[in-house]
Amino acid sequence: MKPLNDRRKTLFCLGAALIVLFLFPAVAAAYVNLQYPSSAGVGKPFAIRLTSPEVLEEVSVEWQGRTVPLEISQWNGKYIALGLFGSSVAKTKPGIHTMNLRLKTPGGTTERSVSIRLRSIKYKEDHLTLPEKMVTPPAEVLAKIALDRKATSKALATQTLSRKWGLPLQRPVNGIVTSPYGRRRILNGKPRNPHGGIDYRAAVGTPVAAALPGRVLLTGDHYYAGKSVYVDSGGGVISHYFHLNSISVKEGDPIATGQKIGESGMTGRATGPHLHFGLSLSGQMVDPEPLYSLTIAELLDQGVFLRIETKGGE
Ligand SMILES: [Zn+2]
Repeated sequence: MKPLNDRRKTLFCLGAALIVLFLFPAVAAAYVNLQYPSSAGVGKPFAIRLTSPEVLEEVSVEWQGRTVPLEISQWNGKYIALGLFGSSVAKTKPGIHTMNLRLKTPGGTTERSVSIRLRSIKYKEDHLTLPEKMVTPPAEVLAKIALDRKATSKALATQTLSRKWGLPLQRPVNGIVTSPYGRRRILNGKPRNPHGGIDYRAAVGTPVAAALPGRVLLTGDHYYAGKSVYVDSGGGVISHYFHLNSISVKEGDPIATGQKIGESGMTGRATGPHLHFGLSLSGQMVDPEPLYSLTIAELLDQGVFLRIETKGGE
């Protein structure tokens, strides 16, 4: 009696194990691989990539208070979403920051948060003396400044899904860097916001090349930035070129990397002829410098992998 009972139990257990083994791999197959940095310097750009063997319908990323949808492409039978992010030295404090991901698959919506530690970076200080009227704008230009800001804020809030950016970026001019990203300016003894872009020495009339492809979002003649061009490269990536002497593109124009967008000058608030180049990633002004030499793969290599189980599966 007893041995038979034990054999039955064993057979039952084996059967159950086989059923679980047969079902479980199909359920566990629904996952997405995330590559992201566990830490990054304040002001430095970084990349994330989501790779899924299963259908990925929508990806959105919440970072530094803004939610950005990422374009999904298919490559080698996999679904891939790439994002370029960063933090602004003017607005971000070092420490642990959270990135929230929302993934839509045929099985449902999966939400996942990851922590990214933003490390403090020591940026230099610049003491400048400018004519007082340039430091404190006269009352009659305040309305003009407010209008400029409205137009530029709207441009920087633009989100287009189609990813046109690629890496490495092309240098817009060949001149030396006269003021790097992050340098804090003390104007006439008063501390100002840290420098949000890179200044290159460039004689008036030097051709300015597009650092990355996209579409012209805004051109203007602003009080501080002078003649300026904003280019949207999709996925929240927007670049801008300030103090131009002339602009050779118009709003809506498609832009190829290296294409001439204008000539450098010293329009707006500039102490001498130079080009100011800025890069905004989902509203965060970051340091473009690392992106002149790194490919997307090299930038991603700075990160770690995380397997995210998604809902459902077949
Ligand atoms: Zn500048």
